[in-house]
Amino acid sequence: MSDCIVIGGGVIGMMSARMLAVSGAQVTLLDRRECGRESSWAGGGIISPLYPWQYDDLTNQLSFESQAMYAALCDDLYHTSGIDSQYQKSGLLMMDEFETPAAQAWMKRHQIGYENHADGALFTHVASIRNPRLLQALKVDIIQKGVKVIEHTQVENLITKADKVLGVHTSKGDFLADKVVACAGAWSEQLLTLKDEIFPMKGQMIVLKAQAGEIPHIILDQGRYIIPRADGKILVGSTMEKVGFNREVDLLTKQSLHEFAWQRVPALKKAEIKYHWSGFRPASLSGKVIVAKDETYQNLFINTGHFRNGLNMAPASANKITKLVNE
Ligand SMILES: Cc1cc2nc3c(=O)[nH]c(=O)nc-3n(C[C@H](O)[C@H](O)[C@H](O)COP(=O)(O)OP(=O)(O)OC[C@H]3O[C@@H](n4cnc5c(N)ncnc54)[C@H](O)[C@@H]3O)c2cc1C
Repeated sequence: MSDCIVIGGGVIGMMSARMLAVSGAQVTLLDRRECGRESSWAGGGIISPLYPWQYDDLTNQLSFESQAMYAALCDDLYHTSGIDSQYQKSGLLMMDEFETPAAQAWMKRHQIGYENHADGALFTHVASIRNPRLLQALKVDIIQKGVKVIEHTQVENLITKADKVLGVHTSKGDFLADKVVACAGAWSEQLLTLKDEIFPMKGQMIVLKAQAGEIPHIILDQGRYIIPRADGKILVGSTMEKVGFNREVDLLTKQSLHEFAWQRVPALKKAEIKYHWSGFRPASLSGKVIVAKDETYQNLFINTGHFRNGLNMAPASANKITKLVNE
């Protein structure tokens, strides 16, 4: 019997398990696949909402808190795992939206400015991480911190009695715990009864091979972005498709993402497309993230609905859910 079961080993589940373990809990984390192979792997790794003024206060608060934590967190993970998450504060060059009244009001309220750039506004505080590496580092780190990570184990349903959760029924038998933290991303709806509906919002992404240092900043325009990695790889994303759990990628999207990139950085026209993939963002009908105690079961906690910002909000969301669990 564990103090706490975490369902889901994406960035939200692993970060939550990490904080719970640090707070002294005995944690078991269950994932139906390998950890870190779903949305958290598919994402771009920008540590900021794309257009922060489009989001609610909680998203902004968790984003600011996480931004302040990320550099030290990546250092810590490097020390325990030997894996470099490649945190880089390259800045984000925004080509549209920054002059709207909503954007200007948000900047004034949060005292955030930008440098004028020939192509738009350069937000120098914005960083990125290489999320597949962050996830590998997290997995090593949480195992070292005593989290029991059990993969290829599907949680079928919660075992409940009156207003309490006793544990979970899985493809590999029952697991019991005092508390359960659900971090099942876009699949949350299959396990939980929530007031706010969670659904998958598919995003397709490509990666190009370019010269290292060719693009100095993240570039954002019309909701799409170009993210430079330290080794010259360039991520270009992404689509917003409400198509259920259909993972297919298509040629038209691949071409349109490439075109988006070379129209802004002409040198990318000849760059080879190395990979093309998709992932399912956990979107909520209200547009709000859910980091809360469940309303029906007193020892069930929910950490989901991070939509386009889960990598960005993960550290602060993990802190918040850990505080709620330990209250
Ligand atoms: C194309 C794309 C680009 C993105 N770019 C960014 C970005 O630049 N910055 C940013 O902050 N965010 C970005 N995101 C969003 C971000 O990736 C997500 O918000 C975040 O990964 C959500 O994390 P999660 O742990 O909730 O979900 P996931 O990573 O999907 O993890 C959920 C886990 O739960 C497991 N699971 C589900 N059901 C069960 C079950 N019944 N039993 C056991 N295990 C289960 C799954 O196997 C999975 O491992 C992007 C997403 C996409 C798709």
